[in-house]
Amino acid sequence: MPSSMPSLNVQILIAACLGVLVGWLVGGLPADDSLREGVLYASQLVGSVFVGMLRMILIPLVFTSIVVGVANLQTHHQVGRVWKVTLAYFVLTLSLAMVLALVAANIFKPGAGLSISFFADAMAEFEARQLSVPEFFLHFFANLFQNPFAALANGSILAVVVFALFMGIALVAGGERYRSILQVFQEFLELLLQMVGWIMRLAPFGILALLIGLVAGQDASLLMTMLGFVVLVFATTLLHGVVVLPGILYAVTGKSPLWFWRGAREALITAFATSSSAATLPISLRCAEHNLKVRRSVAGFVLPLGATMNMDGTALYEAAAALFVANLVGIELSFAQQMVVFFTAMIASTGAPGIPSSGMVTMVMVLQAVGLPAEAIAILLPIDRLLDTVRTAVNVEGDIVGSLVVDKLVGDKSA
Ligand code: ASP
Repeated sequence: MPSSMPSLNVQILIAACLGVLVGWLVGGLPADDSLREGVLYASQLVGSVFVGMLRMILIPLVFTSIVVGVANLQTHHQVGRVWKVTLAYFVLTLSLAMVLALVAANIFKPGAGLSISFFADAMAEFEARQLSVPEFFLHFFANLFQNPFAALANGSILAVVVFALFMGIALVAGGERYRSILQVFQEFLELLLQMVGWIMRLAPFGILALLIGLVAGQDASLLMTMLGFVVLVFATTLLHGVVVLPGILYAVTGKSPLWFWRGAREALITAFATSSSAATLPISLRCAEHNLKVRRSVAGFVLPLGATMNMDGTALYEAAAALFVANLVGIELSFAQQMVVFFTAMIASTGAPGIPSSGMVTMVMVLQAVGLPAEAIAILLPIDRLLDTVRTAVNVEGDIVGSLVVDKLVGDKSA
């Protein structure tokens, strides 16, 4: 790249700002305007090619990085500690996110002035998939173990993660005997990361295109109706992302938030634009290793797991949305019911795959757990694409902070 060009990081930032601006301008044009149609078509094309490329690399990358990550951790007798610290971190940050949501929703009571009858039309057309908590568990566990080839082909990330964990452990248990296989995986991982580097060069164009489509597609009048709720979700999610997570990072590693944002910016903006932690994973891995210097074995373990399980933004959203719906139907949720919301939102966010709007789908479970109408998610669907941006960015931020925290707490830099 010629030295006069801004760095990729800066290019992505410029693309994001430009995308919002152009999207806003294009969104203001009449629906049948040919310029609007042309720009939206082009942005859809470029955006889907970019996301398609990330998806293309995702499954081989998740598989290989976990196998190599686990194998390397085992070599250094750290795997047990990494597991424990990672899970403790996930539970802690998810809990903090939901406490924030519940406290804010209790104070500001979003939706209190509105009535659910106002949304009767939207709800009538919508049929929610009923999924109770036991059914959800059954579904969740049954899907963990799958034919690995089917899981790889269908992109079932959690099943791929589980198989890769098994294989990583088996490789180490076999020790010297499988050394050459491990070496092949290591080289394959290098190769995939090189390909990620190439895809990253397209990121500014992809992000520009995705944001144009996103911003131009928003329905302003609908947003105004639910402004209170939208602002509440944005504000609490941002509070978590700007204060809580950087606070934890600083407390554990002594690293400043600015240092973190500079290193993680490419991944955070990509998460914002794609609304998918899974699609962002190749970039998160790269940012963690290259910019933030997390050991490959730790990043390769924590990030893929986090992208499927650790979703602070989603948990926060699901908890806030449950209280919003309760206000719409005029029900005051007791403390015990809010605890039920807390636990089901934790499970629901953990079970949500890192794809756009998946948090909406698993939220049905949270609503049903406290007897709220699952159909109410029809009200939230039209604004979900917008809310998904920030919550996915915070989901990814939580994962990257997690990799830094685990890296620090499970010492031995020589690994
Ligand atoms: N889009 C989110 C993610 O990929 C999940 C969600 O819908 O909350 O992280």
